Amino acid sequence: MTMPRRRTKIVATLGPATDAPDILEDLVRAGVDVVRLNFSHGSSDDQEARVKTVRAVGRKVGRDVAIMGDLQGPKIRIEAFASGRIELEEGQEFVLDTAMDPHQGDQRRVGVAFPDLVGDVAPGDVLLLDDGKIVLGVESAGGTEIRCRVFNGGPLTDRKGVNKRGGGLSAPALTEKDREDIKLAAQLGYDFLSVSFARNAADIEEARELLRAAGGHGHIVAKIERAEAVANIDEIIDASDVIMVARGDLAVEVGYASMTGLQKSLIRNARSRNCVSITATQMLESMITQSSPTRAEVSDVANAVMDGTDAVMLSAETAVGNYPVQAVRTMGEVCVGAEKHENFRRAQNFRMDDAFDHVDEAIAMASIYIANHLEIEGIIALTESGATTLWMSRMRSDIPIYAFTRHVETLRRVMLYRGVYPQSFDVVHMESSAVHRNAFDLLIDEGVLSPGDFALFTSGDLEGIAGRTNTLQIIEVPAGDTA
Ligand code: PGA
Ligand code: MN
Repeated sequence: MTMPRRRTKIVATLGPATDAPDILEDLVRAGVDVVRLNFSHGSSDDQEARVKTVRAVGRKVGRDVAIMGDLQGPKIRIEAFASGRIELEEGQEFVLDTAMDPHQGDQRRVGVAFPDLVGDVAPGDVLLLDDGKIVLGVESAGGTEIRCRVFNGGPLTDRKGVNKRGGGLSAPALTEKDREDIKLAAQLGYDFLSVSFARNAADIEEARELLRAAGGHGHIVAKIERAEAVANIDEIIDASDVIMVARGDLAVEVGYASMTGLQKSLIRNARSRNCVSITATQMLESMITQSSPTRAEVSDVANAVMDGTDAVMLSAETAVGNYPVQAVRTMGEVCVGAEKHENFRRAQNFRMDDAFDHVDEAIAMASIYIANHLEIEGIIALTESGATTLWMSRMRSDIPIYAFTRHVETLRRVMLYRGVYPQSFDVVHMESSAVHRNAFDLLIDEGVLSPGDFALFTSGDLEGIAGRTNTLQIIEVPAGDTA
């Protein structure tokens, strides 16, 4: 028996606060599984420099992390104020003007870089600025102007985001900049590519095609942050490898009171459709400036874990915060605490009514069923693409799933899957009689299996070909090779 290992994965956003190589190293040692690089900030040289540092740190620490590139998308923003900052009074008129000088905003009007905004709004619509802190009621829209009444005032500074309550802004998901950035994501070998403000499956498919055309292998993450995405959720999940519950923009569009319920249904829906989920934004927000979290934040992270999310994400906490490493440690501790709460070995949904589409999917389901009902200490899956371990990890379990693979892309990709741990293993260049022995020795060395434990082993009879897993064995771990 060994100590339980954290199953829920941690995504950390990189930024100025993590640029020092020793901070990044501490972050990886603290348990980050995936780093997120934002295309919204920095040049392509900055991206490349960060990727190099991440890979170098991975080699030094002996633990690779996956890299996610996050496209900026059509985030609609106001332009700038001549004074840099204004104060809006409740009840005053305020005009968004798509034609005015982008640097000359004042107390009465400001520029907007998205000319179609005027056609997208009508009297009675509500526009939210700066993540909903400023609320504007639209009174008229025509020509280049949207005339609004200020419902909720307050300070407003340059380049703050604009959302429409209930959604309905027409901006396509992929901007010209995004198309260029997709090429860069391919070139830099990103493991995941996130599509911001996706509306439907077509947006996801287009991003995937552009990435593949540029030679990229990354998996596609749909950020669910528009009301339209919620309306089209089934087709988006089916088109995506991963969804992100992007609560920052999502809460503004759907109203924050609906967000928590929505989070639960999104995570459940993703899981049931063999899709991975990330829960994101403001999870440990107070740790940007404080070294410990609020009780509400602890509860939020824990609840996402109990909802069944694959990963929880840190944004400003690591990118610009004062305590990036503590934030990762805190998140890890909260995840482990929450995971202890439930006994997953008891009966869960085993898709009793489902028909499986693939032999390897059936093997994956049977493995988890057996593992949850027998004293099994680990599942060893010989896998090419990682698909077997993805299916296994869609079922609730507390048994570790080890993805043994010879492909570096697979090793990195499975880092996002709940309860799945990568193991580099070249089965193709190994005597077949030595495969079990070598696999067990690796896990005994890591201290996660002991002689006498029972383990499950899944494999195919033609190793080296994806989709051929057809064998499931229950094996007592023999005494270690101590010679
Ligand atoms: P962002 O997306 O951090 O890129 O804005 C996440 C969100 O909106 O929650
Ligand atoms: Mn967002």
